[in-house]
Amino acid sequence: MSEPNYMSDITGVFGYPVAENPTGVMQNAAFQALGLNWLYLNFEVTADNLAGAVQGMRAMNNFRGVNCTIPHKVAVIQYLDEVAESAQVMGAVNTVRRDGDRLIGENTDGKGFMQALRDDAGVDPTGKRAVVLGAGGAARAITVELALAGAHEIIVVNRSAERGEGLVRLLNAKTQANAAFVPWHDAYRVSEDTDLLINATSIGLYPDVDAVPEVDFATITPGMVVCDVIPNPPNTPFLRQAAARGAKTIDGLGMLVYQGAIAFTMWTGHDAPVEVMHKALAAEFGG
Ligand code: NDP
Repeated sequence: MSEPNYMSDITGVFGYPVAENPTGVMQNAAFQALGLNWLYLNFEVTADNLAGAVQGMRAMNNFRGVNCTIPHKVAVIQYLDEVAESAQVMGAVNTVRRDGDRLIGENTDGKGFMQALRDDAGVDPTGKRAVVLGAGGAARAITVELALAGAHEIIVVNRSAERGEGLVRLLNAKTQANAAFVPWHDAYRVSEDTDLLINATSIGLYPDVDAVPEVDFATITPGMVVCDVIPNPPNTPFLRQAAARGAKTIDGLGMLVYQGAIAFTMWTGHDAPVEVMHKALAAEFGG
């Protein structure tokens, strides 16, 4: 008989507010599927208490890693020992992993997008032209990964010029991509040499399920790959419009599962049971 082990390995998310964060549903389903005595918990951590929370995590050897969400993605960096390249360029960390005594910051948001693009759509971004709607955290993560993967041209289309221009400055300063800003006024016309069109805004997120980013859908052609970051509901009107024009589509639920699967592997060292995670999260979203 083996020795009893009553010590669970802990992961989770630091955020505020954090009660509605559903990541634990897919992570705990994955731990169970692999028979791992691991837990994912939502930790309510205010901005004032982040330093203490990270210190507490450091002090507990079986606290193996953590996600960071609003308002900690930028602030957490000062408390870490190392930050991975893409997270450094983005200036934001959504996943902390432990390597012995060291805490390492990663960003899996854009990596989840890249995995969906490569594995599900079979697209290599090298040399491609991408148009990204939005300039917030999701847009930053996606455009930085695209640029580091060799995308040639990145067009940032955003309502606020300040945010859009800020992202373009960052891409041009820190990556090899050619980035340009286009103010978003009326229905955006997608030029025909575009390979990827990505909605990285929050338009269409539950409960505003009928909201659609303003795009002239007649300009979408079958050769384009059209992606939406909205995970709930995954089948957005934006993707339905694109699919009706013959474009290949990638939904935000797949990206969200992949970013979680990448964190799972960073923490546990095991391949993630992606289908189990997808099923658990889809069920949570009522799909
Ligand atoms: P932010 O608040 O940082 O950015 C929101 C962006 O959406 C901004 O560019 C904002 O424009 C734009 N936007 C919002 N409403 C409108 C509108 N009515 N018209 C035009 N533009 C609008 O949010 P995040 O980037 O962090 O998140 C965006 C979405 O991405 C969320 O829905 C989130 O759930 C999803 N997400 C999905 C992930 C996945 O793996 N599937 C991972 C991470 C996020 P402006 O600057 O002008 O205000």
